[in-house]
This record gives sequence, C-alpha cells and structure tokens, in this order.
Amino acid sequence: MPARQPARPPVPVVAPGAVELTGPVFGRADVGPLDRDLTRQHRGEPLGERITLSGRVLDRDGRPVRGQLVEVWQANSAGRYAHRTDQHAAPLDPNFTGAGRCLTDDDGRYHFTTVRPGAYPWNLHTNAWRPPHVHFSLFGTAFTQRLVTQMYFPGDPLTPHDAIWRAVGDPAARARLVAAYDPALNVPEWSLGYHWDIVLDGPAATPAEGSR
Ligand code: FE
Repeated sequence: MPARQPARPPVPVVAPGAVELTGPVFGRADVGPLDRDLTRQHRGEPLGERITLSGRVLDRDGRPVRGQLVEVWQANSAGRYAHRTDQHAAPLDPNFTGAGRCLTDDDGRYHFTTVRPGAYPWNLHTNAWRPPHVHFSLFGTAFTQRLVTQMYFPGDPLTPHDAIWRAVGDPAARARLVAAYDPALNVPEWSLGYHWDIVLDGPAATPAEGSR
C-alpha cells in the first residue's frame, strides 16, 4: 500500500511582503482617459458606424456600483477581432483594437465610444453567425458579483438564431442582454447612442456566461 501523506515537509508561508502589498491593482490610476474611447486609440479613425454605449452598473437592490472597473472587447465593424486566433476572412482595421475599459462614476454609470461591431461566422455548425455583440467583464465588489457577459443590439435578425443567446433559458433574462437605442445618448453629427444597464446579482441579474 503506497503512503499517501506528503513526502516533503510543508513549505512555510511567508507573510506578504511590500511588493505584494503595493503591487498593481485595478485602481483609478491604471485607467487612462483614452481607454473608454475605442475610436481614438490609434493614429487614424476606425471604419464603421460610431456608437456611444452607456448605462449603469447596479446591485440587486438597484443601488449604483461606484468606481467599478468595466472592461469591454469586441470585433471591428467588419466582424473581425484583432487577435491571432481569429482567422475570419474579413479585413483587420489598423485603427481599431477593440478593447476598452472605464470606471463607473458616482451614479454607477459607464461610458464608451466605439464602433458597432460586425457579425462573424463561427464553426458551431454550417452557416452559424454570431450577431453583433460587445463582451463585458466586471469584477463587482464581492466574489458573487463577478460577471462576464455579452451585450446585443436591438432588432438584429441574427440574435434569435444565436446559440449563446438561446442558451439563456429565461426569455426575460435573455431580454436583459439587449441594449436599447437611446437618442438621448446620441452625440449630434457624431455617434448613435445605446443604453444598457447591468445588474450584478439578485433575481434581476444580467445573465452571465457559464456559471458564477
Ligand atoms: Fe465575440
């Protein structure tokens, strides 16, 4: 019968040193002013329909979650990610990386300027296409509030066919993944506005990818 106990003495745990205590965190200083504007991260302007994307991050009781890091990533307007694993035969845009982040304000509000992403094919089955969407990641203030999800655009004909969309069984929860066109967020002569609130936990929570 082989021995199952550890063969070596335990490694002593040393108290965290100054490096760990002062190391980088997702603090205010890390987020630059250009991080929220995905159309100004390169020398030129990206192609596509410019949009403003804004909403509030709320907890289960409807209270704003302030100072929250909101990260987004998305395909360009042709439906291609600036990532080496994306081999979709659509053009890359040298003026668009497709990643942004910002902190929520005192009202729990986030704000991004970007371009509307294009649809792209994926190999789930023949002729499977992802509808235009923006990926979101939020950490929340507690472990149970960690949220990774996707925002969809209203009225897109591809959305009802999307397997990831359909994986959310509850139609009401599914509907919470769709932004609303909001003329009040339009920037005149510049961009179209979309409003999307995110609820981190509770019965009206925004559906997350996978399980929490
Ligand atoms: Fe995607």
